[in-house]
Amino acid sequence: MRAFEYVAAADVNAALRSGSTADARYLAGGTNLVDLMKLDVERPSLVVDVTHLASADPSLAQITELPGGALRLGGLAHMSDVAWDARVRDRYPFVSQSLLLAASGQLRNMATMGGNILQRTRCPYFRDTATPCNKREPGSGCSALHGVHRTHAVLGTSEHCIATHPSDFAVALAALDATVRVRGENGAERTIPFTRFHVLPDAHPERETVLEHGDLITAIDLPALPFARHSLYLKVRDRASYAFALASAAVALDVENGTIRNARVALGGVATKPWRSPEAEHALVGRPATQATFAAAANAALAGAQPREQNAFKVELAKRTLVRALTEVAA
Ligand SMILES: Cc1cc2nc3c(=O)[nH]c(=O)nc-3n(C[C@H](O)[C@H](O)[C@H](O)COP(=O)(O)OP(=O)(O)OC[C@H]3O[C@@H](n4cnc5c(N)ncnc54)[C@H](O)[C@@H]3O)c2cc1C
Ligand code: SF4
Repeated sequence: MRAFEYVAAADVNAALRSGSTADARYLAGGTNLVDLMKLDVERPSLVVDVTHLASADPSLAQITELPGGALRLGGLAHMSDVAWDARVRDRYPFVSQSLLLAASGQLRNMATMGGNILQRTRCPYFRDTATPCNKREPGSGCSALHGVHRTHAVLGTSEHCIATHPSDFAVALAALDATVRVRGENGAERTIPFTRFHVLPDAHPERETVLEHGDLITAIDLPALPFARHSLYLKVRDRASYAFALASAAVALDVENGTIRNARVALGGVATKPWRSPEAEHALVGRPATQATFAAAANAALAGAQPREQNAFKVELAKRTLVRALTEVAA
């Protein structure tokens, strides 16, 4: 690991001042950043520890009630605390499930909301500085295109990058239409709809979100959505625990008298960003909650897939994952 300066920020303003320094990185749980620093992928000259900010403003690490039944998750709240919160489990089961199906107990006790949605891809070439990677070193090439790409994306890819977005939690947030609250260098707060937070790789896979350098995530708002009580996060992976998704689905359904009145669908493990599927939702709403409808929705969700040789299986796997998730929620 390279030498770096370390500062523990006492409050948000101090963090923003330090965080705006060129090559500075915020340190939250550190479960992704420190990993990548050891691999020499991340090379910050300054590490700004934000874990003490909650002493000055406890709401940064808490879950707060908002009017109408919505919830605000502090940017520094831990995955475990959010996953086991009774309000989250009751109002948004798929949010809780997406967190509990990720990483391990120890990691979830350290990792935070902000760090989770900013975690970097697990593409092995991104993590190996001996190989070309456009995301790590813009313009160097993509080793995965003609290399090992079994776990890579089939949706939202470009000729410059086919890396899968790794977060499970982010898939539930995309389905939910969550909002990210951010404070920038000038201290002003702004909000970003979650479905616009991550960007497609296109020609610049090194850019993954709409954040500016130095922006600090202060909270994630979960909107009130009564039918999210009928939701599920289903994750399919190589091992039953401690593995990233090969395919996953976050779904919520509002079914009355056998007809689907409203639906939310997002996919994970198969796309370059958390993948909301308006096509699947369109195929569901107003239709009977039957296997035929669910299969049509799955076909619509994967219609734009661009598989490669080793990851073609993901198209069928994602369809089956989605159909099973919809079947379970409808039941
Ligand atoms: C072995 C292993 C298995 C895993 N399995 C899974 C899995 O199955 N599913 C899954 O979803 N994840 C998995 N993870 C990833 C894990 O969820 C992330 O490492 C974790 O959520 C990152 O959170 P953190 O707080 O530790 O972030 P950090 O490592 O502290 O930060 C990550 C990035 O976010 C930035 N950052 C952090 N907080 C803020 C903020 N408030 N504002 C602005 N920038 C910020 C940092 O500068 C850094 O760039 C796994 C990780 C490991 C090590
Ligand atoms: S898929 Fe993306 S992250 Fe992986 S090697 Fe190619 S450019 Fe790098």
